[in-house]
Amino acid sequence: MPTRRDILRLLPTAAFLATASASAPVQAAISSILSRLKNFKAPPENGLVFFVGHRSIGADQTDMVQYVLEPPEPVPTFIYRCDSQFYTEPLEAMLEQKEKYGLIVLDRSEATIGLLNGKRIIPIKNMQSLVPSKHGRGGQSARRFERLIEIAAHEYYKKVAEVAAEAFLSQKDLKGILVGGPGPTKDYFVKSDYLHYELQKKVIDTFDTGYTDEYGLRELVEKSREALKDLDLMREKDIMQRLFEEIRKPDGGLAVYGEEQVKNALIIGAVDTLIVSEDVRRVKLGLTCPSCGAKKEALARDSAEEIKCDKCGTTMKVDTVDDLVGELHKLAEANNTKVEFVSGESEEGGLLMKAFGGIAGILRFRVN
Ligand SMILES: [Zn+2]
Repeated sequence: MPTRRDILRLLPTAAFLATASASAPVQAAISSILSRLKNFKAPPENGLVFFVGHRSIGADQTDMVQYVLEPPEPVPTFIYRCDSQFYTEPLEAMLEQKEKYGLIVLDRSEATIGLLNGKRIIPIKNMQSLVPSKHGRGGQSARRFERLIEIAAHEYYKKVAEVAAEAFLSQKDLKGILVGGPGPTKDYFVKSDYLHYELQKKVIDTFDTGYTDEYGLRELVEKSREALKDLDLMREKDIMQRLFEEIRKPDGGLAVYGEEQVKNALIIGAVDTLIVSEDVRRVKLGLTCPSCGAKKEALARDSAEEIKCDKCGTTMKVDTVDDLVGELHKLAEANNTKVEFVSGESEEGGLLMKAFGGIAGILRFRVN
């Protein structure tokens, strides 16, 4: 599976020749793809993505580059593009960490359980209840009938909670549960603790929806959008507050900041939480001069930045791209460090970028 870094490797190719259709470079690219395809006996499960093009290496010279990737998810669209840059956005979106929420919409007659994965709503199960309507019965047996209704309703709520447990408990990193529906049933369901205690803790709020079917799931996501955004900002503020508290301590507390310091602390497993601003886009480039052969490494905003040879002034060719954030992320993963991305939409988040270069951490133990 390609990592974010693999995909970012595709980006050094900003200086592509724009190729008019059926021009020689396009034909060369297509035959290169065809010959490469012969190596595959059968297409991989999620298909293949080819990035082929000509890169300018200065002095009117070009160089063909080719990258073949197996996407982490099937690519549901057909795209044919001739452009001066590789179009990697759909792949990058696949690699983004997707936030997962459990969805429940219900009233007394119907319930639907679903999952929100990133922007995708996945319906899991729709249930009709057997609870009879309260109306249409009178006379002597009215009280007894009422009692039967309540028993049926109780069984139905239990069933909904069971299905929710089956669907949500196995989801790693479920961020929360949203509950919707028309009328008071949803609130009764939440307040009466029908849900598994692990899930009960995760209920974010209830929201009014008109429907309790798949369409209701969509309504629920729509209605909760603002609440979720606020929640994200709140989390961001909390994590930054924690960092500032540590920094304020006379001995520097358990805070660490600055690229080099954070990286060193990560390597020895001392970082509990890595905090990275979403605005950090830094890469380390490995470069070769196409005219004199000199080599060097340089930090850049991104891989498209032009860097000149120190010896002869020619624009250097990018050989390797090290994605700083990707590298930190990998180190964090290897050391069981939590990673929090901070958007910069809050004042605290903005400070992370301005005051600490966008990279900080909260330590498990102090390091020197
Ligand atoms: Zn040179």
